[in-house]
Amino acid sequence: MPDRKPTVRKSGASRPAAQDTSPVGKTSAGKKAAVNATPEKPAAAKKAAAKKAVTKKAAVKKAVAKKTAVAAEPAPAKKTAAKKTAAKSAAAKKTAAKSAAAKKTAAKKTPAKKTPAKKAPAFKRESRAAMVRRAHQINHELAELYPYAHPELDFTNPFELLVATVLSAQTTDLRVNQTTPRLFAVCPTPEDMAAMDPERLEELIRPTGFFRAKTKSLLGLSAALRDRFGGEVPGRLEDLVTLPGVGRKTANVVLGNAFGVPGITVDTHFGRLARRFGWTTAEDAEKVEADVAAIFPESEWTMLSHRVVFHGRRVCHSRKPACGACAIAPLCPAYGEGETDPEKAKKLLKYELGGQPGQRLKPPADYPGQPAPPMAPPVGAS
Ligand code: SF4
Repeated sequence: MPDRKPTVRKSGASRPAAQDTSPVGKTSAGKKAAVNATPEKPAAAKKAAAKKAVTKKAAVKKAVAKKTAVAAEPAPAKKTAAKKTAAKSAAAKKTAAKSAAAKKTAAKKTPAKKTPAKKAPAFKRESRAAMVRRAHQINHELAELYPYAHPELDFTNPFELLVATVLSAQTTDLRVNQTTPRLFAVCPTPEDMAAMDPERLEELIRPTGFFRAKTKSLLGLSAALRDRFGGEVPGRLEDLVTLPGVGRKTANVVLGNAFGVPGITVDTHFGRLARRFGWTTAEDAEKVEADVAAIFPESEWTMLSHRVVFHGRRVCHSRKPACGACAIAPLCPAYGEGETDPEKAKKLLKYELGGQPGQRLKPPADYPGQPAPPMAPPVGAS
């Protein structure tokens, strides 16, 4: 745009000639013109001002728009940052979830070694009624586990059972079962045994250990049966315990398994488990028997004895109980005394539960395991 030079007005030179004919008219016209002209200028100025205002407003609007744009520009950046933060927190959450899952898995994998510490106080506060209830549950569980429980001595009559039980002191039922076939082949009745040469009898029962003392007992009880009971084994506890080498435990085994008279057999396994189960605190066999007899009805005594002894021999061993593979672990205050790792505990199981032969050479028909092997011939025998 070219620059406009301001117009310099010279006095009278620019006025039109017609307007100069009457001085009065001239004056009033001039005044009128002046009066008329005066309002024109503010209108234009107003217009200009209005234009300027509009322009300004537009400029302001533009500026505002720019500002808004500028202000709006960082938004994506903020959004990105927010997204990043969200992603980070999501990742953190994922990691936390993973570690929680790992912890859960670890907790699942870890065998319940700490459980006994939690369980023990609960059992300590147990009332007698609760203990009795739990004892019956244990018996029920053991009945499910060992429906084939039976005495683990081979016998065909009360005399054989009596002799085998006397021989089982301080040795295994397996060793007795491997010994008695030969013994009963030589002396099948009390009369035959009472007439045996002591040295010959000692030789026959030697594999069971303590053979001299046991020979004495066998000769004495055979003679007593022959002389006092007509060659028959009596069916009463008070008679049985009068026989040499026969105590309550032996008498109860004979009564329960040969005569069907209920009896609790407290051997080393039964005593140990009864204490672990919290049924008794006694060490003395007779006291243990009395404590357990007060918990269970007579009808259960004989089979309860077999089940508990079965469990003691197969799972709840003296030194290394297989707690991690024990079906009654939730009911046992002594859980944790032995191996709690399920895989390691499984390897401790014995007899049919461990895939091994049983103790009897002639087990009952419902026994799920293999029969025991006969005695191995002496080294060098043909
Ligand atoms: S193996 Fe363990 S859990 Fe099972 S009865 Fe024995 S001590 Fe109790």
